[in-house]
Amino acid sequence: MPVLVASDLDRTLIYSSAALALTMPDARAPRLLCVEVHESRPLSYMTEAAAQLLTDLGDAAVFVPTTTRTRKQYQRINLPGPQPAYAICANGGHLLVDGVTDQDWHAQVLARLAEECAPLEEVREHLMATADPVWVRKHRVAEDLFAYLVVERELLPEEWVKELAAWAENLGWTVSLQGRKIYAVPKPLTKSAAVREVARRTGAHLTLAAGDSLLDADLLLAADRGWRPGHGELADSGWSAPEISALPERGVLAGERIVREFLRASRPKA
Ligand SMILES: [Mg+2]
Repeated sequence: MPVLVASDLDRTLIYSSAALALTMPDARAPRLLCVEVHESRPLSYMTEAAAQLLTDLGDAAVFVPTTTRTRKQYQRINLPGPQPAYAICANGGHLLVDGVTDQDWHAQVLARLAEECAPLEEVREHLMATADPVWVRKHRVAEDLFAYLVVERELLPEEWVKELAAWAENLGWTVSLQGRKIYAVPKPLTKSAAVREVARRTGAHLTLAAGDSLLDADLLLAADRGWRPGHGELADSGWSAPEISALPERGVLAGERIVREFLRASRPKA
């Protein structure tokens, strides 16, 4: 029976140059592998050591990339190791099986959203009406499922984010601030629901998980064991749970440590 490893990607396994958090002298920095190119420019990295570990993990476990990214944003990532049989995109809204979305799963998700939370349009109108163009760079809708803003973080009023979160809560939506992006996501749209579906289909007996943001909290809570890096929304808010290890590493080195922990926990004990 396989071990299932469901991991968030951005700022958990892969890091933009702004998120690397390299603090050692340049001459002792780890060698980095670029795993994502966007508009002909390098965008995301992992350490070479993490890349090797991830390749090994592909043989030891069912590795499931579990991301809030849209399918298109996910598909331009070029992770080392075998092509994952399952991947979760759009925060659980799409379950890719051998790279193709599972329509039955997607239909189930849409039915749940229609029943349990306010429609996307209402949230989008609110964002349009209240977000100040002084600090908003882009308004985006992802996969017709949720919305996010790209903002100037230095100009973003903390108070506005708090008010938005309280407003969204009443509509059955969650707000998450990650780097330059503010996400508004329906509460029933979760990574954990999609991971449970993969566990059911694969017959996994053990689920491991990792993540850094508020949108990963349900994923971590649904896992048998998990890890979170020393940076990010969960670390900043002091979030903890019994089976979740809070790692001291920050940035791309946290990513390496997480894959090492996944591999160690996936291998049968000698
Ligand atoms: Mg993340």
